[in-house]
Amino acid sequence: MTSVDSPFWGPDFRELQSTDPQIAEVLLGELDRLRGGLQLIASENFTSPAVLAALGSTLSNKYAEGYPGRRYYGGCQQVDRAEEIGQERARQLFAQPGTDIHVNLQPHSGASANLAAYAALLKPGDTVLAMSLPHGGHLTHGAKVSFSGTWFQPVPYTVRRDTELIDYDEVRDLALTHRPTMIITGATAYPRLIDFARFREIADEVGAWLVVDAAHFIGLVAGQAIPSPVPYADVVTFTTHKVLRGPRGGMIVCKPELAKRIDKAVFPFLQGGPLMHAVAAKAVALQECLQPAYRDYARQVIANAQALAEALAAEGMRPVSGGTDTHLALLDLRELGVTGSQAETRCDRARITLNKNAIPYDPQPPMTASGIRVGTPAVTTQGMTEGDMKEVASLIGRAVRDADGSATNDVGTAVGALVARHPAYARPGQATGLRA
Ligand SMILES: *Cc1c(COP(=O)(O)O)cnc(C)c1O
Repeated sequence: MTSVDSPFWGPDFRELQSTDPQIAEVLLGELDRLRGGLQLIASENFTSPAVLAALGSTLSNKYAEGYPGRRYYGGCQQVDRAEEIGQERARQLFAQPGTDIHVNLQPHSGASANLAAYAALLKPGDTVLAMSLPHGGHLTHGAKVSFSGTWFQPVPYTVRRDTELIDYDEVRDLALTHRPTMIITGATAYPRLIDFARFREIADEVGAWLVVDAAHFIGLVAGQAIPSPVPYADVVTFTTHKVLRGPRGGMIVCKPELAKRIDKAVFPFLQGGPLMHAVAAKAVALQECLQPAYRDYARQVIANAQALAEALAAEGMRPVSGGTDTHLALLDLRELGVTGSQAETRCDRARITLNKNAIPYDPQPPMTASGIRVGTPAVTTQGMTEGDMKEVASLIGRAVRDADGSATNDVGTAVGALVARHPAYARPGQATGLRA
C-alpha cells in the first residue's frame, strides 16, 4: 500500500506557487487575514489539518454517483469505505441508544440538504410552516428569492415582541389554520434552544412532517452540549462547516423509513456525483466530534458566547432575548445610535469580522439592520476562553463607537496582539492554540 513518503500525493503549496502564483497569493492573503483578525461570524470555524488533508486529496477525482455498494461507476471500493465509515460515525454521534437512523453525507451544502428534504417530502405548491426570515429563519425556509418561497407556499411564524422567543402558541394556531404538509424549524440567528418536543406535538396534531434544520447548532448537539432534535424530527438537515467544524457541505439524518426518499432526493433528483473528498473530510470531522475533547469544546463555545453577550451588554448593546443558550448572540445596537451596517464596517476596518443582522421587528431595512450577530465557534477553536471574551467585547465596543476611524489603528493592534496569543493555523515553530 502507498505510504505517506512513497510519495503521497496531496496539497503541494510550492507547486501551486510556481504554477499559479496569483491564486497562491490569494491563499496566503486569506491565511494572513485569518491569522491577523478576530473571526466572529457565527457560521464559521477553523477546520483541522486532518480535515484539510482529506479535502485536498485525490478523492476529488472520483465519480461515485449512487451510494456505497450501488454505484453507477467502477473503482469505488475506496470511496465506498470513506462514505460507510462516515455514516457509521454519524450513527454513533446522533442515533439515540437502541434506535436507528439513516445518514446521507452527500448534500453539497446546507441549502442542498434542505432542497432534498423538501423534494423528499413535498410536492410543488405544498404549504410549509417555517420561521420568518427577519426573525432568524434561513432563505431556504420560504424566502421569495429561494426555491422554498417560489415553488412552495410558505407560512411564516415569528418570535414574540416581548420575549423575542419563538411563539409556540402562534406556531400551533398557524398550523391548525393552514394545515402545512411540513413544519421546518431551525434558524440562522436565534440564540436560544428550540423546544423540539413542542414542535413534534404540533406536527402530530396536524399530520405534518417535522424537519429540523440544525445547520447552526448541530455541532453543539454532537458535543452533547444541547439537546438533540434527532428523537423528535422526521428529518434533520445540517451543514458540516459551522460549529461542527468539518468541511463546507451538508448532511441529512432521518428516520430509517425515510431513507429511500431522502437518498433519491439527493441523488439523482438534485445532485450528480458526490464530492468524495468532501465526504471523506466529513468522516474525519465526525471522528473528531466523537472525541472527549470535542465535548469540552462544545461546552466552551457556549460559555464563551454567554460571556461575550454579557460583556457586550455592558458596552450598551442589548442581547436579543436577553442572552444566549448557544454559540451565537444577536445584539441590538439602537441605544448606541449605530446601525448594524455601520458596526460591521467599523469592526471590519479594525480586523474584527462579524455581520450586521436584522433583529426581530427591526425598523431598518435588511441591508442596514439594527443589529449584529456574533458567534464563538472559531475563537473557541483558537483556544480562547471567557476572559478573552471580555477583551473581545471591549474591542468591539471601541470599534462600534469609532465613527471617525480615529481608534481603528489602536483597536486593530490590540486585536493583533490578542489573536497572536491564540494563533489559528500557527506558523512553523509557533505553539498552536488550536484545540484538539
Ligand atoms: C447556513 C445555513 C443553511 C445553508 O447552508 P449553506 O451551506 O450555506 O447552503 C441552511 N439553513 C440554516 C439554518 C443555516 O444556518
